[in-house]
Amino acid sequence: MTSSTEYRGRFAPSPTGPLHFGSLVAAVGSYLDAKHHHGTWLVRMEDLDTPRSVPGAAEDILRTLEAFGLHSDEPVIFQSQRTAAYEEALQRLKDIGAVYPCCCTRKEIADSALHGIEGFVYPGTCRFGMAHQRATPAWRVRTDGLLPPPCRGRDGEGVEASLSHCSTPIPAFPLQGGRSIEFDDALQGRITQNLEREIGDFVVKRADGLFAYQLAVVVDDAFQHITHIVRGADLLASTPRQILLQRLLGLPTPHYMHLPVAVNEAGEKLSKQTLAAPVDVAQPVATLLRVLDFLRQEPPDELRNSDVGTVLGWAVRNWDAEKLQGIKTLPYPVIPA
Ligand SMILES: [Zn+2]
Repeated sequence: MTSSTEYRGRFAPSPTGPLHFGSLVAAVGSYLDAKHHHGTWLVRMEDLDTPRSVPGAAEDILRTLEAFGLHSDEPVIFQSQRTAAYEEALQRLKDIGAVYPCCCTRKEIADSALHGIEGFVYPGTCRFGMAHQRATPAWRVRTDGLLPPPCRGRDGEGVEASLSHCSTPIPAFPLQGGRSIEFDDALQGRITQNLEREIGDFVVKRADGLFAYQLAVVVDDAFQHITHIVRGADLLASTPRQILLQRLLGLPTPHYMHLPVAVNEAGEKLSKQTLAAPVDVAQPVATLLRVLDFLRQEPPDELRNSDVGTVLGWAVRNWDAEKLQGIKTLPYPVIPA
């Protein structure tokens, strides 16, 4: 049973390698916020990008979470087993004319696009019909806030695809604030993004058949009745895309809290690319205390000689997210050798 007032949070790692400090911060932060509010905390494996998934990494991440006392309250969901739900959502987007097929190559986009906050802004070349007829198209969501009327019939898969027969745009749904998406983040304040200008029509299903993260995460958050999303500020720029998809699919928008991300001395986010070391499960108490220090929770020294359960219990009772107000990045703590 899920009541509308119940807090349901989640941690959703991608199994592309072992858990590093940055992902443990997101795991602990989402856990503490959920448990402090007597909520449910879930783990979801975002193993959608199968070419990037590393065999055994999902099991390794789950084992690591267990070592830190972070147990999912419900069975772990694997996105790789959820493609039917994503296909259904894509079909709904097709039915309302919110997506269109696109066969533009990377090079064609690079040649005509402007730079946005995350690489090239797709210029909308195929919005009213594909410029070229090629093999399997990608599917893009319109971000111009103007949707054509429902466009049924040919569903656009394959070389015959074209939405040009419904090319008269009329406002079909009001985007809050015109063409911008706005939301209030619990830590980062009011966020406003003009999706069309800053991101462009984004892909929800790739030409290789894989569903994009943005669509999967929205479908799964709704499926799991997630009410509060606590994650790293590196995903802040993704949130307006997810809110747009929630509105298009008629799904509720959860509360968002974007935690500071750990950066190295060069200001780079910790990831496999910056060679972030896997978290030390051999000394879970020391590692957990470093995470709490990073999250500015000021754990008392006497916790050093206790166990993981005691540290987590203290952290749940004393969780104070306000200490992170407005902070997007924090330096990765230096670990003594
Ligand atoms: Zn195209």
